[in-house]
Amino acid sequence: MTKILLVEDNKTQARFIKDFLEKKGYEVIWVEKGTSAIKTAKTTPVDLVLLDLVLPDISGNEVCRWLTENPETKDIPIIILTAKTDISERVAVLEAGAHDYLPKPFDEAELNARIYAALRTKALQDELKQRNRQLMELTKKLELMAITDPLTGVYNRRHFEKLIKTEFSKAVRYKSPLSCLMVDVDHFKRINDRYGHDAGDSVLRKVTEILSSSLREVDVLARWGGEEFIILLPNTDRDKALVVAERILRNISGHRFEKLAERERVTVSIGVAVVDGDTKDWEALIKQADDALYRAKAKGRNRVEYG
Ligand code: GH3
Ligand code: MG
Ligand code: MG
Ligand code: MG
Repeated sequence: MTKILLVEDNKTQARFIKDFLEKKGYEVIWVEKGTSAIKTAKTTPVDLVLLDLVLPDISGNEVCRWLTENPETKDIPIIILTAKTDISERVAVLEAGAHDYLPKPFDEAELNARIYAALRTKALQDELKQRNRQLMELTKKLELMAITDPLTGVYNRRHFEKLIKTEFSKAVRYKSPLSCLMVDVDHFKRINDRYGHDAGDSVLRKVTEILSSSLREVDVLARWGGEEFIILLPNTDRDKALVVAERILRNISGHRFEKLAERERVTVSIGVAVVDGDTKDWEALIKQADDALYRAKAKGRNRVEYG
């Protein structure tokens, strides 16, 4: 039921308004003082405040200002009931944050119509806020979808290229080491052929998990293509990059994959490249890692090569 907080120190008027509103189907909480109004609004969720301007303790304007400045109560529509009708007073009331005002004495039908209008505006504002929230959530989801690979959940190639550009210029500017690893699953076609495409997919997901858990927070992991992954290790020189690559090799070859036969082992080959004075650009860095990977394949797979 719609709850209205009625703040009115004139008992006769208050009873009259309360009766009328209750007949209209509203629940009415009636208080006589401004401070009681604030206390009530703070503790009880109300949908609208009907506020007399002249109260025994603090003024209606002060109550209004307090309600509109408080995060929990700021969205509650306030209608001021006022006997004073000069323009400056009306302006002050609206400036204090009131939604509307009604000069006393007022007609019941008009009071009812103004309450209805204020509640409708509030409902529309709430709906708009809700839609906005949904839109923001959707935008976030879409932004995430645009940069991630659907199968593995890591960055896609396009986003990786964006990140490597930035990391490459940082590495050059600050003369900090930057390493790149190109990782390719060995004989992956065979896994698909033996166990099916779905089992292949699950292996790719698990490989991604192992790669991810072998890296630091600052490292960047992306799916480069089918069964190929690319990793960027900021602030990492050649020796440290080789340690990381060997660790990945061990973690993968040592893993027992759920969907595959007991004896089946999945291995990867890794090409490592590090930015040095001769590395022309980020594309050259990737090319270097790719060439090293090619050599790792040629030399028998399940190994790391440095290019
Ligand atoms: P190599 O050791 O030389 O890398 O051999 P390979 O079989 O891994 O390499 P190749 O490039 O011949 O085959 C890669 C296979 O990966 C072929 C393709 O069907 C499969 N593949 C690519 N993307 C996916 C995917 O998303 N899911 C599954 N299940 N398979 C994929
Ligand atoms: Mg291949
Ligand atoms: Mg492969
Ligand atoms: Mg490949």
